[in-house]
Amino acid sequence: MAAERDYYELLGIDRNAEPKVIKNAYKKMAGKYHPDRNSSPDAESKFKEIKEAYEVLSDPQKRQMYDQFGHAGVNQSMGGGQQGNPFDGFESVFESFFGGGFGGAGGSRSRAARGADLIHEINISLEESFSGCEKTIKVMAMETCGDCGGSGARKGSTPMTCSHCNGSGTIRMQQGFLAIEQPCPVCHGEGKIIKDRCPTCRGQGQIQKNKSINVQIPRGIESATRMRISGKGEPGQRGGPPGDLYLDIHVDDHTIFEREGNNLTCDVPISFATASLGGEVEVLSLDKKLTLKIPPETQSLSHFRLRKQGMPILRSDNRGDLICRIIVETPVNLNSQQKEMLTTFANSLSEDQAKHSPKCDTWMNRLRKIFQTR
Ligand SMILES: [Zn+2]
Ligand SMILES: [Zn+2]
Repeated sequence: MAAERDYYELLGIDRNAEPKVIKNAYKKMAGKYHPDRNSSPDAESKFKEIKEAYEVLSDPQKRQMYDQFGHAGVNQSMGGGQQGNPFDGFESVFESFFGGGFGGAGGSRSRAARGADLIHEINISLEESFSGCEKTIKVMAMETCGDCGGSGARKGSTPMTCSHCNGSGTIRMQQGFLAIEQPCPVCHGEGKIIKDRCPTCRGQGQIQKNKSINVQIPRGIESATRMRISGKGEPGQRGGPPGDLYLDIHVDDHTIFEREGNNLTCDVPISFATASLGGEVEVLSLDKKLTLKIPPETQSLSHFRLRKQGMPILRSDNRGDLICRIIVETPVNLNSQQKEMLTTFANSLSEDQAKHSPKCDTWMNRLRKIFQTR
């Protein structure tokens, strides 16, 4: 997967191109760069890129993954199996185009296949995480075609068993001692031949649809959690199980609270007088009003813990704590009388600084010592 160029750009087509346009573009480009016809040194790598682009864009499922997630989506959905020799199926693909027939790009498809997984991101508020919520998410996903029931054959007709491979989708070739199994060139590994294609799904058996899925988000869920909702991905093919839906959950920042583990923290501003004399202030948790007792002589940045007023702990009845960080607010917009009173008050304190403002006193003493020793 060295090529990271845009597949649409490689084939010189529009992002909304119909399957027929993709096929024609590939035919044209493959003919131009096929190493048998083009002797320029980069023809081979170019052909490889074009082939890769076509393999993805001609497969509705892969194409959707690519549209949604780019190269990452396709690499994921292809798994490790496609990393081998990029020229596997090289001949057959080319021959199927230029020798008449047309088909997919190799690989046996006759076995039941699990549906693709879907990945979806969702943002929720802290309140929604607190109480749990139900969300309806919309995803573009392949669904079994309702008109043909997934067979790909026009309503009223049935796909015929391929007589070349007797329906197995593979043929055995004897080369000396070696018996090699290859996808049947007639049915392209499907085991069946559709004479009369279902017009709704163009014989694919699946169509892309906007799907709404209801999801229960449990209370207490943390940001950056990936939830797996089993069986809610794309349907399987030929009786295979459906894929899963992966939900990446992001919890939005809150104006008041921050989550730390299962605790909530918040800043609580209190007045200079309350900090000094003590008192009560009203605080909020995510579900109720609470009263926080401020003891006398409370300093800025001290913490008070309100037990079990934090976030619900996932899959339990317990809750974390609410931790209030006190911010002592310096009074502002004082009038001249208030300023005068404050000056008088400050003067009364400075007579015994060590007693009323021990931190200031210690700080000054330390500074003095440093300057005296120099
Ligand atoms: Zn159909
Ligand atoms: Zn066959």
